[in-house]
Amino acid sequence: MTDQAVSLWAKARGKLAETLNEGAFTAWIAPATPISFEDNVFVLEVSSRFFRDYIANHHLDEIRGALADAAGLETGQLSLELRVAAEPSAQPVQQVAQEPREQPRRDAPHTRSLNVRYVFSRFVVGASNKQAYARAVAVAKAPAKEYNPLFIYGGVGLGKTHLMHAIGHEIARQQPAAKICFITGEKFTNELIDAIQNRRMSRFRSIYRRVDVLLIDDVHFLAGKESTQEEFFHTFNDLYDNHRQIVLTSDRGPKEIPGLEERLVSRFEWGVVDDVGPPDLELRMAILGHRAAERAIELPQDVRGYVARNIKYNIRELEGALNRIVAFAKVEGRPITVELAQEALRTILPAERGKQITIDLIQRKVAEHFQLRALDLKMKKRTKSVVLPRQVAMFLSRELTDRSLPEIGDYFGGRDHSTVIHACRRVTDRIAADEALRETVERLAEAIRE
Ligand code: ADP
Ligand code: MG
Repeated sequence: MTDQAVSLWAKARGKLAETLNEGAFTAWIAPATPISFEDNVFVLEVSSRFFRDYIANHHLDEIRGALADAAGLETGQLSLELRVAAEPSAQPVQQVAQEPREQPRRDAPHTRSLNVRYVFSRFVVGASNKQAYARAVAVAKAPAKEYNPLFIYGGVGLGKTHLMHAIGHEIARQQPAAKICFITGEKFTNELIDAIQNRRMSRFRSIYRRVDVLLIDDVHFLAGKESTQEEFFHTFNDLYDNHRQIVLTSDRGPKEIPGLEERLVSRFEWGVVDDVGPPDLELRMAILGHRAAERAIELPQDVRGYVARNIKYNIRELEGALNRIVAFAKVEGRPITVELAQEALRTILPAERGKQITIDLIQRKVAEHFQLRALDLKMKKRTKSVVLPRQVAMFLSRELTDRSLPEIGDYFGGRDHSTVIHACRRVTDRIAADEALRETVERLAEAIRE
């Protein structure tokens, strides 16, 4: 433990205590131990693999941000390495500092919520995205002319948000006075609800109806939310009539969004609808090459091929894999080879992950531990002796499988997704207060992974 790491961590912790909710802070942040801070790499130690993965999945960016703040660095300049205490050779999860090559203006207030790394020059074009890319560039060059609204849809991690931000950056560069608003469908909804409750609708309207460019990310979030759709319908019309550019993204086409009012579907189709598909092998290789070059990393062709062949459907995962390999090579002090890449990716590649973790397995292990029947976890019973085990099982299902909240709910006797969210929060809160429960959860996670 170095003094510098200790004092930096004390500052960062103070900040995290303010920004995170109390349960999350006490359960996940407070128990971690600072180890060292050297060459802008902060090493934090946690008690188990489960713990490390939990933090990596939920709080990595917040911790990095707080540490960078405390150290007087930009977030992008600091790397965080999470190390598991008992197993010194365990693979670290690391987020490597990345230097964006081109720094778009940060001073204009409306561009502040745009990610500086999502610019056109960092977007690699291939067969699956060239149409959407060309259209995004056209919109950025001549907003509210030919394609309005621009609607981009496609699966997770395929570059929709990236393209949307790139449009915003480019317009801001060309028209520094333009008011550009980027917001997610979720945030738009929450702000609207807030405005209604606090009787601030006119303010809400004056914000959204006075922008030059409105970028709404993940607009499918509005599905089924009537009053949000109503308000958005009017916002849309207002902007459209005044020749303002609107860009929307979604996980599916306008017609396929269940619970989206017909009048919005038809508005969304007024302009142009493009999809981004999964990247082909060539594009995946090109993206890896681009990302490596950007960071001046030597990434041999065979390694590039190995990664691109194994990670097929999600560009975010592709980038994550590269980060892992680079971090692993650095920690091990070895050159980047296919063997090293295999080791580094062992835990994340499905083929090499061994057996898939199922919710059935989780239910069996949890039930066994608490001396219940797996069936008890699925029944409606709400006696104290089953409530906690059931919540733990839901929490582990959320952390250890890729199942969605509604799917998890289904596995537990058709419960609602909000019940699953509640269960996950409860477990974090209880872990915060109960050391023994933490150990139980960690041990169960290990046993399930075996
Ligand atoms: P989506 O919004 O479709 O889920 P994102 O736009 O968030 O996906 O992209 C996920 C990650 O992949 C981001 O880091 C983004 O920079 C990167 N990415 C996606 N498409 C490309 C591309 N064509 N070239 C380079 N990076 C890409
Ligand atoms: Mg997105």
